[in-house]
Amino acid sequence: MKKPKVAFFDFACCEGCQLQIANFGEALFDILGMIDVVEFREVMSEKWNGQLDIAFVEGSITDFHAEERIRQIRERAAILIAYGSCAAIGGVNGMKNTFDLEEIRKYVYGPEYHFFATEKTKAIPQVVKTDYVITGCPVYPPEILVVIKAALQGTSCSPPDYPVCVECKLNENVCMYDRGVACLGPVTRAGCNSWCINNGNICYGCRGMISNPNERGAREVLEKHNIPLPFVVNKMNLYNKCRE
Ligand code: SF4
Ligand code: SF4
Ligand code: SF4
Repeated sequence: MKKPKVAFFDFACCEGCQLQIANFGEALFDILGMIDVVEFREVMSEKWNGQLDIAFVEGSITDFHAEERIRQIRERAAILIAYGSCAAIGGVNGMKNTFDLEEIRKYVYGPEYHFFATEKTKAIPQVVKTDYVITGCPVYPPEILVVIKAALQGTSCSPPDYPVCVECKLNENVCMYDRGVACLGPVTRAGCNSWCINNGNICYGCRGMISNPNERGAREVLEKHNIPLPFVVNKMNLYNKCRE
């Protein structure tokens, strides 16, 4: 049987999500047995200009060149997967949207700034039809496997729409709020198995907000623990500025 042709592409990002592929360990060999990787800049020099069965797209769209390129990739790919928070929700690149674009260009590129195009950061689903989304900064390896299987089988699959707290409770962690520390788990999309809290950290909201956060409950928790709302909103802006 012919293996599906798969390529990885990157836009504005740190490429950390592509590196996560290397963290699969032995499962990587199982995946490579099922697919034919034809382009993956981080690990091979070959390029592929033909049709693709699956395109993994990492990174956000931040100028018109990128917008043109993602539309071309979309035309060539039967299935397009937004891979990582930069792609799925805009992620850290969305912070640019807080500032005046002209000011940002001058600050970053100096006096010759007008040679460098820029536009407000957009997540991949805000520009082209996206078949699957793998969120997270970086992506959570077990979730990549679930989505790859769904894509190969042609079944639907979306990130959970309930908060990280659900997984955190199942993992029997002591709540960060009980330690007097603000955590974004109550409003952040689960699916990472409360990765950071299991390792002694807080949730930074990297998977994006759930669609219907319990705002009243969140406010009550903040009031109870004497944590100002703007403090938490600022933290949320780290990954979620493309939502607006
Ligand atoms: S989501 Fe995070 S780890 Fe992945 S490419 Fe973007 S900044 Fe890097
Ligand atoms: S607020 Fe954070 S630490 Fe507390 S239960 Fe939710 S995810 Fe876990
Ligand atoms: S716990 Fe929060 S910050 Fe950590 S991976 Fe999960 S969603 Fe991202």
